[in-house]
Amino acid sequence: MPHEVLALLNRPSMDAAEHHPGEPALTFADAAVAQVNVLDLGVSRGDGIFETISVGNGKAQALEHHLRRFARSAQMLDLPAPDLDAWRQAILAAIEALEPGEEAWVKTVMTRGVEGDGRPTGWVYAAQSADFSRVRSEGVSVALLDRGYRHDVEQTSPWLLQGAKSLSYAVNRAVLREAARRGADDVIFVSSDGFVLEGPTSSVVYRRGNGIYSPGTGLGILDGTTQANVFVFAQSLGMTTGFERLTPAELAASDAIWLVSSVRLAAPVRAIDGVERPVDGQFSSALNTWLKAVFV
Ligand code: PLP
Repeated sequence: MPHEVLALLNRPSMDAAEHHPGEPALTFADAAVAQVNVLDLGVSRGDGIFETISVGNGKAQALEHHLRRFARSAQMLDLPAPDLDAWRQAILAAIEALEPGEEAWVKTVMTRGVEGDGRPTGWVYAAQSADFSRVRSEGVSVALLDRGYRHDVEQTSPWLLQGAKSLSYAVNRAVLREAARRGADDVIFVSSDGFVLEGPTSSVVYRRGNGIYSPGTGLGILDGTTQANVFVFAQSLGMTTGFERLTPAELAASDAIWLVSSVRLAAPVRAIDGVERPVDGQFSSALNTWLKAVFV
C-alpha cells in the first residue's frame, strides 16, 4: 500500500460544473507527478482554502468540525460552496488507500481554479505523520509577534480574511523564520491592540488552577478543532473551560500553556521570549494520549 495518496475531485462544488463530465467523482493520481495547472489561482495567488486533519489508526479526527470550517472558509473567500459529501468521501477513500499506521494526516485543498474557468480545483492528499513525541513532551519555545491587526479585525475588515483557513500562509511561514532568528521554535501572535491570538498553525490554550481556557473565537483566529477537543478532555476531568480575551502578561501568569493543533497535537510552551516557564508534563502526556484516540 502506498505511503502517500492523492485523490482528485471531479466536482469539488455542486455550484460549478464537473471537470470531466460523466467520469467518476474521484480519481487517484500520482502525487509525485504535477497535477495542478500553472494558471490555477491557488498556485499563482494563494487563492483557495485548506484543512489539515489528523488520522489516528486509520480514522479521521474531528472530521465534521473540519468540514464545517472548510465550508466557512469558502464562504469567507466567496468561493463556490464545497460539496461536503464529496469531500468526506474523498477523505475517507484516501485514508483507506493509505498504508496503515498509528498517526497520519490528510490535507484537503480547494482553489478558485484556473483564472476565468469558474470551476474550483480540489484534491485530498494523505500521508503518514512525522514523529512528534519529542515536541509533545519537551515543548516549544515561542516568540510573541505582533500580527498587525486589531483583535476586532474580523468584524471591521472581513476582506482581510482573518479567521479563514486560506492558502495564503506565506506570512505564517515567515513568522517561523523570524522566530528562528530570535532563537525560538514557534510563535504566538498578538493583536496590534495587545491581545493574545493564536499560533501560525495552532491555537493557544492555557491552564489556570482547575480551568482550561483559550483566547476564543471572533478575534480573527481559527475556530480550532483540537482546542475544542482539549475542552472536552478538560470537562471530562471536571475542569472548568472557557474563552477569555487576555493580554500576554495575563498569559504569562497562567500555570501552563500549550499550542494545540491537528497532527502535532498539544505542544507545551516551555519559554516565551526567552523566559523559561514550567511545563505540565503529566497533563501534557494525558492530553496527548487522549487526543490521539479521540474521533469526535
Ligand atoms: N490557528 C491556525 C492559524 C492554524 O493554521 C491552525 C491549524 O493549522 C490552528 C489554529 C489549529 O487548528 P486545528 O486544531 O483545527 O488544527
